[in-house]
Amino acid sequence: MSTPYEHAVEQLQQVATLLRSHYDDKVRFEEIIKQLSIPEHFHQTELTLTKDDGSEQKLPAYRSQHSHARGPYKGGIRFHPNVTVDEVKALSMWMTWKCAVTGIPFGGGKGGVAVDPRSLSDAELERVSRAYTDFIAPFIGSKVDVPAPDVNTDGRIMAWMVDEYKKVAVGRDPHPEAAFTGKPIELGGSEGRDEATGLGGVMVLDQLAEKLGWRSKQEVTVAIQGLGNVGYWFAHHAAERGYKIVAVSDSKGGVVVHKGLDPAATLSCKLEKGSVVDCYCVAGVCDVVHGRSITNDELLALDVDVLVPSALEGAITKENAAQVRAKVVIEMANGPVTPEADAVLHNKGVMVVPDVLANAGGVTTSYFEWQQNLAGEHWSHDAVITKLNAAMRLGFVDVWMMHLKYPKESLRMAAYLHAVKSVVDAVLN
Ligand code: NAD
Repeated sequence: MSTPYEHAVEQLQQVATLLRSHYDDKVRFEEIIKQLSIPEHFHQTELTLTKDDGSEQKLPAYRSQHSHARGPYKGGIRFHPNVTVDEVKALSMWMTWKCAVTGIPFGGGKGGVAVDPRSLSDAELERVSRAYTDFIAPFIGSKVDVPAPDVNTDGRIMAWMVDEYKKVAVGRDPHPEAAFTGKPIELGGSEGRDEATGLGGVMVLDQLAEKLGWRSKQEVTVAIQGLGNVGYWFAHHAAERGYKIVAVSDSKGGVVVHKGLDPAATLSCKLEKGSVVDCYCVAGVCDVVHGRSITNDELLALDVDVLVPSALEGAITKENAAQVRAKVVIEMANGPVTPEADAVLHNKGVMVVPDVLANAGGVTTSYFEWQQNLAGEHWSHDAVITKLNAAMRLGFVDVWMMHLKYPKESLRMAAYLHAVKSVVDAVLN
């Protein structure tokens, strides 16, 4: 099995094979593809964390800047023990494509520290966040590279990072607060950011339902793996628009409620009981008569119209892909369908809406946060959601047009064709 970075390069090569015919100057085209196969800059170091007991711990830390052809590098910072050079490089390349899909003027970046944040006290976490900021400060900035939260990092960590960055960026960056997104609202964060990823996915579902001729939303059944931030907001907005959410899960298991479940009541029940496993909630009332508990494997195999993996990468594999009965899979998590599973689903005729389109609502709203910071403005929730809708619609239409041009290819390939073409065109112009 290839590593994430090898896989990302392989994908780029496949896209290039199809795109080549669009360009007269094949030599220049090949040069650009070669250039896009490796990050423009890769920074790495070892942070020294002084623990609360006075001992020291060395932590590998990275920032990959893949392409700035379409604008400043953009991408999250993850704190996770499994962070590697290979993974960070791959994720930075995927960020380039994700930004290009919805047309926001950013390139791709990604960063990480190989650390288990659960093993750290709050004070240690703050010291790691500040040390990482000191490491990246010389090569980030509001017009250069704009990091954001990712796995195990959040608004509180962004607040520490902005504070640290401001100390070193004095006189160099006129808008230091715009050098990070995903900040708390009171520090320049955007309205709507929390729900943006899930809501953006529902906006894509709306567009797709129209193309597939699904007239009645009430008849479209949806199963969601992972009722976390992304999964919950997807469920909330889908149910609000009339789709029937029949199953949800978390790491402990899930529930199926054929009548259609109430996402808000399910979330309250989950918070109370620690899991959704015993939460069968319809119209505000949670009672076992409404449904039954299922495993995550059962959820993936439900006979539904739409399956929404919103938890982990690699959830749908070559082992369980054959059991998927959904007509459409919407990748709200990053990389939830492995390449082998992708081939199985494609051959079965299951349409997979790729992560670079489906979950781009988050980074798109980060772009709005950046714009607000640069302009010294704070937009209303309505203004943000209206702009998000326009961006997701445009992203979907561009990918769909590419899909019509290459009907034998998957929607994932169509998204990559559109994205890589935008980046190559930006380099050429
Ligand atoms: P989260 O931690 O809020 O939620 C994750 C959910 O998945 C939790 O409910 C957890 O219980 C569940 N889960 C964990 N392991 C599971 C398993 N084995 N089976 C079923 N459920 C399991 O995380 P999130 O912010 O919602 O992110 C979810 C995914 O979406 C990640 O892949 C993330 O990279 C991706 N993503 C998130 C954003 C964002 O804005 N938060 C943006 C783009 C992509």
